[in-house]
Amino acid sequence: MHEFKYLNNHLYCERVKVEDVARKHGTPLYLYSYHTLMDHFLKLKTAFKAIEPLICFSVKANSNLALLRAMVDKGAGLDIVSGGELYRALKAGCAPEKIVYASVGKTDEEIEEAIKRNILFFNVESVPELENINRIAAEQERVVNVAIRINPDVEPKTHKFISTGKLTNKFGIDFKTAEKIFKQCYDYSNVRLNGVHIHIGSQITVADPFVAAITKVVKFIEKLKKENIHLQYLNIGGGLGIIYDKETPQTAQKFAVKVLPLLAKTGLKIIMEPGRFIVGNAGILVTKVLYIKSTPLKKFVIVDAGMNDLIRPALYSAYHQILPLKKAEARGRLEKVDVVGPICESGDFLAKDRLMPKLKAGDYLAVMGSGAYGFSMSSNYNSRRRAAEVLVSKDKARVVRKREDYKDLARNERLPLFL
Ligand code: PLP
Repeated sequence: MHEFKYLNNHLYCERVKVEDVARKHGTPLYLYSYHTLMDHFLKLKTAFKAIEPLICFSVKANSNLALLRAMVDKGAGLDIVSGGELYRALKAGCAPEKIVYASVGKTDEEIEEAIKRNILFFNVESVPELENINRIAAEQERVVNVAIRINPDVEPKTHKFISTGKLTNKFGIDFKTAEKIFKQCYDYSNVRLNGVHIHIGSQITVADPFVAAITKVVKFIEKLKKENIHLQYLNIGGGLGIIYDKETPQTAQKFAVKVLPLLAKTGLKIIMEPGRFIVGNAGILVTKVLYIKSTPLKKFVIVDAGMNDLIRPALYSAYHQILPLKKAEARGRLEKVDVVGPICESGDFLAKDRLMPKLKAGDYLAVMGSGAYGFSMSSNYNSRRRAAEVLVSKDKARVVRKREDYKDLARNERLPLFL
């Protein structure tokens, strides 16, 4: 469900005509629907109401302060993976006791800051990291909460780059080592080892990998209980898939039916870390056609958004539906084209061999489902300014991040004296 719909052949976001925003603020442009965002967050919250989990939105999916604030205002916590995301989480007004921190490579500086700020807990991904957190906490004369991230070795049935729960992935700790850590918890006197965490991958559209991973981890929790090791938190991560193309992902309700019984029987406080599920279909990337180029073998629609704006097609061969802002039925038959950006890489494409209505320079297009891992993965490659972000609520469109200017590109650079 999302609030991007055609009305009289023009694409609208809620009650705002997308083309009006594109003309006013320029392209490429990220456009978000506040009510779609809220709807997804509240659907998850409602589906899991029986156990009142803490839903920590995964900041990496979309780190815009306005979107974070919108969710925090509705009770969300935040899942972070860096000092920068901690900074954003606090700036968005998130209570530190609702922040959980994962990442295989937390630096001393990041750990120190997170401890100082009193976050809820660290999701720890290795023994050396655990030792380091224990050491830093001791220096600060603190005892901090830690959940061990378990690598449950399940196949998440998703793209290999976004699979994280197999033992060949760099994430988490295997069950045997984790058990050893819990049994040796007295070695870590400045750490309260009171949780377990899993996150098996992203864009997972079926329930079985979640059920398999949670079943394994629940068994593990029961085993620990028998050893008189009692936990407080079970963090089941994120990973719920959405519709980009022809996927038929489970709804929040169907997911809850499958996993709620397993979670409820643990009696632990459940944490969830959804990203894509909440924000993926709440955002689009708006772009303008610059040129139509025909070669002996291909037709290219060259647009002003490149892989620096949306890297998912280049990185994961991800599919995004591309719609004209003005419905073009009247312009006749569909034709097969590559929709490509202006960047000097052959990997710079938004769609390959895609059937599109006949387009011309100046037409606007919407790259659908770009709310997650869109702007947050964007870069300045080719010295391109990062796009503006606009948030729509009902009939109002507000800029929530202005387009970068050329000064932003060179802001931190210095010419050494010898030049
Ligand atoms: N939690 C962790 C630890 C992650 O690494 C990720 C994404 O990679 C997420 C949550 C969010 O995943 P998704 O956007 O698929 O829900």
